[in-house]
Amino acid sequence: MPLVLVSSDAFERHLTPPGHPERPERAHVFDAVATSWRTSGGAVLAPRPATLEELAAVHDRAHLERIAGTAGRAAMLDPDTFTSPESYDLARLAAGATLVGVDHTLAGNGPALVLVRPPGHHAERHQAMGFCLFNNVAVAAAYARAQGLLRIAVVDIDVHHGNGTQQIFEDDPAVLYISTHQYPCYPGTGAVTEVGISAGRGRTVNVPIEPGAGDDDYAQVLDRVVVPILTAFAADLVILSVGYDAHVQDPLAQMQVTTEGYRGMLTTLRATADATSRGRLVVVTEGGYDLPALGACLAATVEVLAAPASPATTSGGPAAAPRASGPGVRGREAAEAALAIQKSFWPV
Ligand SMILES: [Zn+2]
Repeated sequence: MPLVLVSSDAFERHLTPPGHPERPERAHVFDAVATSWRTSGGAVLAPRPATLEELAAVHDRAHLERIAGTAGRAAMLDPDTFTSPESYDLARLAAGATLVGVDHTLAGNGPALVLVRPPGHHAERHQAMGFCLFNNVAVAAAYARAQGLLRIAVVDIDVHHGNGTQQIFEDDPAVLYISTHQYPCYPGTGAVTEVGISAGRGRTVNVPIEPGAGDDDYAQVLDRVVVPILTAFAADLVILSVGYDAHVQDPLAQMQVTTEGYRGMLTTLRATADATSRGRLVVVTEGGYDLPALGACLAATVEVLAAPASPATTSGGPAAAPRASGPGVRGREAAEAALAIQKSFWPV
């Protein structure tokens, strides 16, 4: 069950203005991770562009036309979100890369790690937002549904709330969206009371966490909220939106997660996917703006995903040893607030 990476050096050609955190050098970090994996004998698959039909499963026509209209030029879509001449093509390539990962894992070939920019989880059905042009993980989830899968879980551990992913699936009971995020923080959505709408009620799980949370906090949130709900849902496919911007070194947020904390989270989530979803797991990059931290966390992620399949346990999470980041009060409070809401929907 070997891990594959999906990556391309083309992603460096999505340009953003000087000083922008979502910068081309992030693609160089991806390239270094892919080169290291290839050198060790691992497989790196090339992405393909998502088709317009695949994008239209989650974005409306006006949005697709607007982004297509930026081809060949630089444009500002909102105060944070920019295109360069090749961005439209590269955003289609980023969305399509996730589909290569889905194909790999649905064929029973193990997990996939998809290294892409621009990121995707802020992109809504009708608009680009927060560095994101197309919602990469949403395109992947819709594609998997079109293959006949009945239950897809998207777990988003980027430090920011994935407003776009939530919005696209908020009325869809087939897609479970679980997000841990700093709160308050950009984009402002993701309150614990946002649980989905109409037929999708109970299929959105938000765990907002106070700034300053570290490894223990996140481990508690995963063990008490994310793993039990993911286990109860028993997804046919688990897609992870992994932003590494909850890292203590990250310049955009105020969380204190270490590289080892990320390793622990990925270990827990992979073990859960192994136990409940036959190891069908696609990990897709979102944020992460400190380049050394991004590289270290991705290396840890590769190690976790490349390890032999873990035994059928629902929690491979970090041991409860004391950690430098504090006693986990923020995590306990976040978990209890989420459980108080989600107990209406889940056996937690
Ligand atoms: Zn983020």
